Amino acid sequence: MIELDDVRKDYAGGVQALAGVSVLIRRGELVGIVGPSGSGKSTMLHALGTLDRPTSGTVRVAGHEVGRLSDARLSALRSRYVGFVFQHFHLAAGRSAVDNVADGLLYTGQRIGERRRRAALALERVGLGHRMRHRPHELSGGEKQRVAIARATAGDPPLLLADEPTGALDSAAGAGVMALLRGLNRDGTTVVVITHDHDIADSLPRRIRLRDGRIVDDER
Ligand code: ADP
Ligand code: ADP
Repeated sequence: MIELDDVRKDYAGGVQALAGVSVLIRRGELVGIVGPSGSGKSTMLHALGTLDRPTSGTVRVAGHEVGRLSDARLSALRSRYVGFVFQHFHLAAGRSAVDNVADGLLYTGQRIGERRRRAALALERVGLGHRMRHRPHELSGGEKQRVAIARATAGDPPLLLADEPTGALDSAAGAGVMALLRGLNRDGTTVVVITHDHDIADSLPRRIRLRDGRIVDDER
């Protein structure tokens, strides 16, 4: 499903965020990425999600070699194929939950009515059918993250990437978010999640551990 082959990523200023990472993630997996701050976890997630082109090495997603795709084709592939969830939700302030989720479907070219209909279904799936018209400041942290998960999954992408999705939540809300991610995985979505939480990491079937931009452990 996704493969990184000897991926390196250098940032200006001489930082080597990834120093040669090779990994294969298969369809249907639930994978954690763990490691100290600055070890390259976010950079690796961005490479997996084709948000960033690596300095060198190969990224293959769904049979496509990312380096060979134009920006336009890559962004079309990414929209259909990958959902993203972030620690701080990245919801649009002042827009209702249903419109935040419907905005995530803009790439489909569907009309607003159809996008809202699909957004409402996605919100029901995350247990927020009663929060459609709430705006982000009217929602708890856990609810905001569930809206973000609805937005990321409204188009049923096969791959969901989450960067510290529980990092800004208390443990009960975090457990709810992890339960949702497990449910999506059980229903067939491949899920990759960065976490600093040892209990969450220990509960995952596979953990990739990074240090200084390299994979130092890949436990199942
Ligand atoms: P982690 O997610 O494990 O905390 P990151 O992938 O965010 O690690 O960062 C890896 C290294 O790359 C760090 O040294 C970080 O400071 C550096 N880095 C990340 N993003 C940038 C950037 N846009 N420009 C320069 N350096 C960056
Ligand atoms: P938590 O349950 O995480 O402590 P809150 O106490 O902030 O969260 O919210 C409890 C419930 O009240 C949530 O379901 C949220 O949707 C709702 N809520 C919070 N603030 C507002 C608001 N300003 N307007 C409407 N509903 C709100």
